[in-house]
Amino acid sequence: MDKAIKNIVIVGGGTAGWLTCAVIAAEHCANAENGMRVTLVESPDVKTIGVGEGTWPTMRGTLRKAGISETEFVRECDAAFKQGAKFAKWVTGEDDDAYYHPLVLPQGYSEVNLAPFWQPHADKVSFADAVCFQSHICEQGLAPKQASTPEYGHIANYAYHLDAGKFANFLQRHCTQKLGAHHVLDHVVAINNDETGDIKSVSTKHSGDIEGDLFIDCTGFNSLLLGKHYNIDFKSCKDVLFNDTALATHVPYEHQQSPIVSHTVSTAQKAGWVWDIGLPTRRGVGHVFSSAHTNDEHAEKELRDYIALSRPDLAESLDVRKIDIKPGHREKFWHKNCVAVGLSAGFLEPLEASALVLVELSAAMISEQMPATRGTMNVVAKRFNDKFTYRWDRIIDFLKLHYVLTKRTDSDYWIDNCRAETIPNELSELLELWQYQSPWHQDFTHVDEVFPSASYQYVLYGMGFKTKNPPTLRRSMNQQLAEQHMQKNHALTQKLLNGLPSHRDLINMIKQQGLRMAS
Ligand SMILES: Cc1cc2nc3c(=O)[nH]c(=O)nc-3n(C[C@H](O)[C@H](O)[C@H](O)COP(=O)(O)OP(=O)(O)OC[C@H]3O[C@@H](n4cnc5c(N)ncnc54)[C@H](O)[C@@H]3O)c2cc1C
Repeated sequence: MDKAIKNIVIVGGGTAGWLTCAVIAAEHCANAENGMRVTLVESPDVKTIGVGEGTWPTMRGTLRKAGISETEFVRECDAAFKQGAKFAKWVTGEDDDAYYHPLVLPQGYSEVNLAPFWQPHADKVSFADAVCFQSHICEQGLAPKQASTPEYGHIANYAYHLDAGKFANFLQRHCTQKLGAHHVLDHVVAINNDETGDIKSVSTKHSGDIEGDLFIDCTGFNSLLLGKHYNIDFKSCKDVLFNDTALATHVPYEHQQSPIVSHTVSTAQKAGWVWDIGLPTRRGVGHVFSSAHTNDEHAEKELRDYIALSRPDLAESLDVRKIDIKPGHREKFWHKNCVAVGLSAGFLEPLEASALVLVELSAAMISEQMPATRGTMNVVAKRFNDKFTYRWDRIIDFLKLHYVLTKRTDSDYWIDNCRAETIPNELSELLELWQYQSPWHQDFTHVDEVFPSASYQYVLYGMGFKTKNPPTLRRSMNQQLAEQHMQKNHALTQKLLNGLPSHRDLINMIKQQGLRMAS
């Protein structure tokens, strides 16, 4: 129990494995003589999932902490800037049905809840447009910063769209060449326990046994250590989130300099939705759907019809890859001296890019709370399990919110999604509450919520939800403050529309000259 934790073994070299490796190796000085030893074992025989192109703004902090230059990252990972998501056809399914979930918080978010003051104007201006400038700049294809803004600095909060394969390779080079991580390219064939039931080592095909104090399972859907070796139960949430299959493809631009869209576009279909992610050299497009409500053939046709709207010349000839999804997560994530990060811990449909942010949050907590001894590991493990069970539950609620307010009745998929028995209790309670008061800080109790009340406001009011806030609220002291913030938003929007470069121009500039380092 007093044994010091010095030797970390990560199994799996997808985005989860390399991101976790980068965070731990950087923070625990793996390249110094007395630093922690960090080894990543990756099979040459099992491919990475190869998707996962949308991120969350936390990625900026994660890359920065790992000592990565943003210029190098943009150049080498075919990365572009993501400023939120636009949801099309989720409410009525008509062509003019769309709303934004931007990454910038509503104006004055720390001072006053603007929702009740926007509501009387709801038929003239959308919530996102009234309280935030970002939807306006997204509509115009503008970048979230200027060429002179330093690395990782922003004018509008942003995340990235990136090429998943290039990102894993880039992180591998950074971890092995700069951060002192050890890389073993070999297939793990056995997992060996010590007499206490902890993992002592993993056996590989050609490189012998690799011993460690803490093992991080990043083996993707295989979940080799936590799932297969320790048999930790999988909690399915297919009764809430129905989508269980994805079809993914890459769509070339018509011209090398075609505009790059700076938000993920999620377009609802009959039994699922299509994602559309703009990178500098291509788009990543895919259809996530429920196999209980449609079949592969129909889903592929809907995907090709969607692509044909922009590339009729290519829509029928593109290769499409099928990926099976099991929505849900492990009963717990940290067991004995093994913790799962990434797909091995679980997966929910990629509607709000919540998978990589969970990888970052997991890596950050493991690294920050790295147990000094085997004894204290049990304390950290319990806290980790509590925290991440809460996070998975809240993410399930937030994803379900996108479905439950639809007015679509054109297929069983949309009808079934609104059935009361498919809606988690916590979400049902909040929806009841929000009939009479707008979502606000007290609704979510953790300081580090993945989705704050602002995210709920954007989706709730984007979907046309009405709150009957008491009329006295609007006559309160806050009225003047709210009006000032909405005016400020209007002025800021005009200023930024005139001052920001196009997204494509900023990417070109970064490729040619690079961004200034932050001071
Ligand atoms: C359709 C789809 C769309 C997605 N879109 C998004 C998105 O937009 N945003 C987002 O945040 N996330 C998204 N995700 C999730 C995202 O792709 C993953 O969270 C991310 O790629 C991390 O994957 P991973 O590293 O856990 O697993 P993988 O990429 O599958 O890597 C598993 C690793 O384990 C190794 N391995 C397996 N078995 C062994 C063995 N026996 N020995 C040694 N090594 C082994 C493999 O070689 C590989 O290196 C999406 C997922 C899907 C399915």
